[in-house]
Amino acid sequence: MKIHEYQARDLFAAAGIPVPAAQVATTPAEAKAISAEFGVPVVVKAQVLTGGRGKAGGVKLAANPDEAESSARDILGIDIRGFKVDKVLVAVASDIATEIYLGAIVDRQTKSVLLMASAEGGVEIEETARTNPEAIIKAPADPATGLASHQARAVGFRLGLDWPQVRQFDSIARKLVRAVVDMDASLAEINPLIVTPEGELRAIDAKVTIDDSGVFRHPDLAELRNPEEETGPERDAREGGISYVKLSGNIGCMVNGAGLAMALLDVIQLHGGEPANFLDVGGGADADQVRTAMEIILADPAVELVLVNIFGGITRCDDVATGVVAATSQLSRSVPLVVRLVGTNEEEGLRILKDAGISAHRNMVEAVKAAVAGVSA
Ligand code: GDP
Ligand code: MN
Repeated sequence: MKIHEYQARDLFAAAGIPVPAAQVATTPAEAKAISAEFGVPVVVKAQVLTGGRGKAGGVKLAANPDEAESSARDILGIDIRGFKVDKVLVAVASDIATEIYLGAIVDRQTKSVLLMASAEGGVEIEETARTNPEAIIKAPADPATGLASHQARAVGFRLGLDWPQVRQFDSIARKLVRAVVDMDASLAEINPLIVTPEGELRAIDAKVTIDDSGVFRHPDLAELRNPEEETGPERDAREGGISYVKLSGNIGCMVNGAGLAMALLDVIQLHGGEPANFLDVGGGADADQVRTAMEIILADPAVELVLVNIFGGITRCDDVATGVVAATSQLSRSVPLVVRLVGTNEEEGLRILKDAGISAHRNMVEAVKAAVAGVSA
């Protein structure tokens, strides 16, 4: 789950990380009023669920309330990488001596919360990682104990900070790592963490991604979810406990089990077809769950046919077949169905499907061939 900068900076502030004063505006007049209230130069920043706003014209400095108003007018309504700007953050502007990159991610390779820092902050860190990986300093933190002070300080010195700055860096870095653990985040990033001409460290950008699988443990964070992050079908899938990823082909796929779903995607492509999605209905494939899954698949206009692939272990094939037949009569759009059923009560399941006039198979490759033959190439 991605959240906006203004939401992430509030979380950072609550964690004790220094951030500039700021408020959200949805109109140019509001931006002007906020700027007047601060009474100092501000920066007006597009709030969208994507990075690179600076380059896209989504970050503007404003010396006075009138400039803040016109900056907000310029930024509100523009499109940044497919996201329309409907909010700006008006933040007290900072003087910048140095921009540092600081991030903490859950890293599988080091089995740690990995702190990453670079003196080449501000620019896209992916670019630095690619062209100059040595410029990224890393420190693995044990998630149980957090980042140790000596680790944070070593990173601070390697960034070229002086001793008073290193002390601030130590505090910020440890809080950032702690925030990742506490929030079940997969990433928390400050780019840039600035050093002001007076030697103060401050987070002037904030990015947090919460691990979707951990959101249920944080009702307060769940409330931060932004509807524009997901399409309608993606939301229906999440709420229905269905794993759904849209792909670019025309064969809709409904499968019970993630491994079986991935195998199906491979077999479809092996036989010259293009899957429209990955979908795992989970354990229970009753009529309701099947209908929800079907509607999610059919919401993609590219889908010409739905291929159902069920391995009946605990799930009984006759129940699934009944569910599929019941669901098809209630769907918003009718497309050909091809079903592959194998496992518990498969004879009964296949008979129910055939009686309903649905292309039913026991063998996955045969079902895939029937599906590929049923769509335009
Ligand atoms: P991003 O492009 O989406 O990452 O947005 P940022 O918030 O990181 O801003 C992009 C760049 O704008 C920063 O790297 C800074 O160079 C500049 N910037 C942002 N806020 C300020 C500020 O308060 N003062 C100054 N001087 N520059 C700023
Ligand atoms: Mn940034």
